[in-house]
Amino acid sequence: MSPHKCSEIARGLAGWNEISAPHRGTPRPSVTAQAASGVVVTTSWDDGHALDGRLADLLDRRGVHGTFYVPLRNPERPVLLPPDLRTLSKRFEIGAHTGSHVNLTKLRPDELWSEVREAKMELEALLGHRVTAFCYPGGKFSRRARAAVARAGFTAARTTMALRWDWGIDPLLLPTSLQVYPHTRLTHARHAVKEGNWQGGANFVRLGAGRDWVGLALRLLELAVTTGGWWHLWGHSWEIEELGAWRQLDDVLAEAGSCGARKVTNTEFVGLIPPVAA
Ligand SMILES: [Zn+2]
Repeated sequence: MSPHKCSEIARGLAGWNEISAPHRGTPRPSVTAQAASGVVVTTSWDDGHALDGRLADLLDRRGVHGTFYVPLRNPERPVLLPPDLRTLSKRFEIGAHTGSHVNLTKLRPDELWSEVREAKMELEALLGHRVTAFCYPGGKFSRRARAAVARAGFTAARTTMALRWDWGIDPLLLPTSLQVYPHTRLTHARHAVKEGNWQGGANFVRLGAGRDWVGLALRLLELAVTTGGWWHLWGHSWEIEELGAWRQLDDVLAEAGSCGARKVTNTEFVGLIPPVAA
């Protein structure tokens, strides 16, 4: 990361209103290290797939922390076996992702409580320590689901709301920067509306978010760095494999790992949200 590139970015991102189009073309800019104090980088990875080990190696190599959200059971895909999960927990935070990876908004109150509470208890018994982070399957949340998550004792809960870097956020409805996935412009827009993520919707318009997830991830990292915000990349290891995106992810994580930001787990991230915002 050269000083030349740093100053280039500083000029380009001097003010939010000056940002009007997504970064296109190559080479992509590196993110300035000098402006990154107070900036926070975190990541999260859902579903507890066997390829999470590869992802953990990549994160370790780039010095990026994060949280792996693991359901107790997943009808769609196999979940890491308990010994592998324990091994992963020695390097990264493990968060709950319900008992059976269901849409919480469709459940009766007793089913909802069971999915949230049992996931916490079983995961804690399996890992031998407290589990404080939770992730809503499919990004589906509701007021009732949030209340159940709070009642169960979780302190951090991640949604799939995207295109954010501001600190005005709810620790139990954490938005993210971006998913490792080439979503279309239409999908980005639909998500923002369905999730009531109005700030993300406004950012979508300004950023012109589209399929270039690498460019968007780096742009969001630049915005976090230049505004003293945060950057939260998330995804699925099985999806990264299907997309053939390991190399691209490594490039993005290299930037995130070297930008001078503080690297934390999702639970640690919540501890850094200013009280006024929380
Ligand atoms: Zn999931």
